[in-house]
Amino acid sequence: MEKSLGIYIHIPFCRSRCLYCDFYSTTGRENDMTRYEAALRRHIREYAPQLDGYVIDTVYFGGGTPSCFGASRLISVFDELKRSGHVSIDAEVTVEANPESVDKAEFIRLHRAGFNRVSLGVQASSDKALRELGRVHSFNDASNAVEIARSAGFLNISVDMMYGLPNQSNEDWSNALMAAVGLKPDHISCYGLKIEEGTPFYIFRDSPFLPDDDKQADMYLYAVDVLSRFGYKQYEVSNFARRGRESRHNSKYWTGGEYIGFGASAHSYIGSVRYAAFSDIDRYMDGVEGGGGVVETSEEIEGFELAAEYLMLRLRTVDGVSEEEYYGIYKCGMKRVLELLESYEERGWAVYREGRWRFTPEGFLLSNTLIGEILDAQTRERRETLRPWQTAPVEDSDQTELFTTERRITGIVY
Ligand code: SF4
Repeated sequence: MEKSLGIYIHIPFCRSRCLYCDFYSTTGRENDMTRYEAALRRHIREYAPQLDGYVIDTVYFGGGTPSCFGASRLISVFDELKRSGHVSIDAEVTVEANPESVDKAEFIRLHRAGFNRVSLGVQASSDKALRELGRVHSFNDASNAVEIARSAGFLNISVDMMYGLPNQSNEDWSNALMAAVGLKPDHISCYGLKIEEGTPFYIFRDSPFLPDDDKQADMYLYAVDVLSRFGYKQYEVSNFARRGRESRHNSKYWTGGEYIGFGASAHSYIGSVRYAAFSDIDRYMDGVEGGGGVVETSEEIEGFELAAEYLMLRLRTVDGVSEEEYYGIYKCGMKRVLELLESYEERGWAVYREGRWRFTPEGFLLSNTLIGEILDAQTRERRETLRPWQTAPVEDSDQTELFTTERRITGIVY
């Protein structure tokens, strides 16, 4: 039986840099788009023989701003992937877009070519807030973009929103959420603004104009409550969907599914190996064209690390974790982890239902800290259960690295 596989294609071009963004993308490199498209196609073509045994059931064009790349290039890259003969007829095919680069004729072409999901960066409903974030579109542009996507035939539309913005009040966030709901998308992602080192926003890291942690927490819990009232069920820390509209592609990241990334800075996880391509468009194109390879980092994930990833990723979802699944991966119990989860249950941060542990919204809010504690408990348990002849030292779990890797993979800030 064929195994399911996701494909991620990174398009590292943006019209301008948003002031908070630390994702890999470039500006002013339009002249390199044709070369980049050729490099992506060649990379896919050369990789295709290794796809035997797999069926590609999700494809995700992310960025950057894929809608800046133009429909012709996106379609040509997707066609190359289709030529591999492994893309399922009912694959979920997502294109990320920003409102300023959404064009009806282009979207009609994308839809006809098989793209069937749009993820739109809306972020805020106030034009002032959008300007302060360095976004180059208005909320009206976002509203038009949703209409254009819908009239082009897209029936699965997601919008991204951000909270914890400078000077944002609870009322502002409530208005932004209602404006997002008013667009009637199928899926809404809500991310808290995170001030990243190296971004222009970093100088505001200690600013009193930024909502503090408590205020951000209130905004998050408010979003969980309001969105559920409007039919958007939370299925992951930051993601909410109407029934059946959960992102199939992103769910692979959270459930240990396999995926291959093409493009600069794209991540892959296949077999038990996780690897990342150069976060540099020139090194990526040179690597493909010269045959010298594009992999910047690579690591084998197995045994204990695989079990740690299971805990770390699954606890981000409302499905949570089960002892049985954990045992299936690691062939070892999770006594210490269960003790911790029970203590979280007493504090209202976790619940146990039908054989599975999951975080409550209050637990999701603290998930970085709680998952860190869980990974430490798991490491302690491993130490305790080592037999005398198992002399290999057990190092402390490197949560920083795990979180860094995961955040890059999912492109999520929370
Ligand atoms: S947030 Fe999106 S559009 Fe803005 S610079 Fe980053 S990748 Fe580009």
